[in-house]
Amino acid sequence: MQVQEYIKKVQNKEISVIKTIREILKEAKDINKDYHYFNTFSEDLALGQAEKVEKNPKGKLAGLPVSVKDCICVEGVESTAGSYILKGYKPIFNATIIDKLTREGAIIIGKTSQDEFGFGSFSTNVSINRQPPKNPHDKERVTGGSSGGSAGFTAITKHPHVSIAESTGGSIACPASFCGVAGLTPTYGLVSRSGLIDYANSLDKIGVMAKSSKDTKLILDVIKGNDTKDSTSLKQDINKDSSVKKIALIKESLNVDKEVRELIIEKLEGKKIKYDLISLPLAEKYSLAAYYIIATSEASTNLAKYSGIRYGIQEELTGNFDDYFSKIRSHAFNKESKRRIILGTFARMSGFRDAYYLKAMKARTLIIEEYKKAFSKYDLLLSPAMPIIAPKFTETQKLTPMQNYMMDVLTVGPNLAGLPHLSINIGKAKAMPVGLQIIANHLNENKLFTLGEKIETQ
Ligand code: GLN
Repeated sequence: MQVQEYIKKVQNKEISVIKTIREILKEAKDINKDYHYFNTFSEDLALGQAEKVEKNPKGKLAGLPVSVKDCICVEGVESTAGSYILKGYKPIFNATIIDKLTREGAIIIGKTSQDEFGFGSFSTNVSINRQPPKNPHDKERVTGGSSGGSAGFTAITKHPHVSIAESTGGSIACPASFCGVAGLTPTYGLVSRSGLIDYANSLDKIGVMAKSSKDTKLILDVIKGNDTKDSTSLKQDINKDSSVKKIALIKESLNVDKEVRELIIEKLEGKKIKYDLISLPLAEKYSLAAYYIIATSEASTNLAKYSGIRYGIQEELTGNFDDYFSKIRSHAFNKESKRRIILGTFARMSGFRDAYYLKAMKARTLIIEEYKKAFSKYDLLLSPAMPIIAPKFTETQKLTPMQNYMMDVLTVGPNLAGLPHLSINIGKAKAMPVGLQIIANHLNENKLFTLGEKIETQ
């Protein structure tokens, strides 16, 4: 059953919320044994909420099962951002968006698997005590990352469901593309980050995964809005105008695997979508380098607070604080987290700061200006979401860290510029899903939905 049809039935008391929640939890637990989409299930919380909604099924999301990426705090439910260092951490408060969702009758069923702290593009950088999620279309392939659990479960579940995910540099668009679902990354600041376990504060955005873009729109309407608990949260709302007159396809983005390129062109022609080809040379040339310097710089400061004392795991305090701190961080962070702490700390060090961090900030400004110029002529920009279809686990194991980072070449641009973007499924190539990435100017989410729905409907 479709999400909106289900909510209507709940509101009209034609369907039991408790029964639906019991069923989806059973399904999720069974699937989890092999696919590893969830880190934690919040069964007691979900059934308690379901009882309340069943009695009073009023909200806009009445009875809707929602899974939440592990980096978003849910009161009383283990929230680890996929890291062993936060094992056992149960927040004493809800992220703002969790309050907004539950106020409208949504039911939180569990926390989804991710790359540790969001560091990755395949969800293979999970914490040391976990297994990576598997692609629902082919178990030998990855889900994409870092919101891999959210995308995988959204694609596979037979129940009405949406997932709340997060993107810093592509973590919604990438797994949405690899798993064949819709993934919306809103304008930076539109959705409150209060209660999000940060990766890189100037880049992090909470967004949505669903089976269709129509459903992402429904959820955005509930979770957006200014929040005094987040100083970067925007006061403005999204623009009402949803008209799409001029579209451009980014020329450099066609430099991807042949099957991806051909499917994109074929789909646009099949849907009779007219577009110009434009070039964004600065985004093409500098966005990856600028992104990885800024993201790791911010991440390295954010991770400093995990010392085995205040949050998550604790061990017996032997020796002095430095020894204790180093010992815990050495075994509880995975390899990729350590790599990023080293990279980010280096880029910010006195003597190197001007050459790396500050230069990356300048490049970021130029990239934003380049996009802004394109949006003075076009309503929407298009590209594939990812340059490849979901790779096999065995293939990702052979990649160097640099080759890993290069997978994000098409998603880091809009993320650096804080632009809203939507990845929608446009079919399959070599039996695996391919996503089209639609990018709009700040606060023009409504234009994304116009084109997304047009392409998705048969
Ligand atoms: N793959 C990118 C990275 O590793 C983006 C991840 C994200 O958006 N959280 O930084």
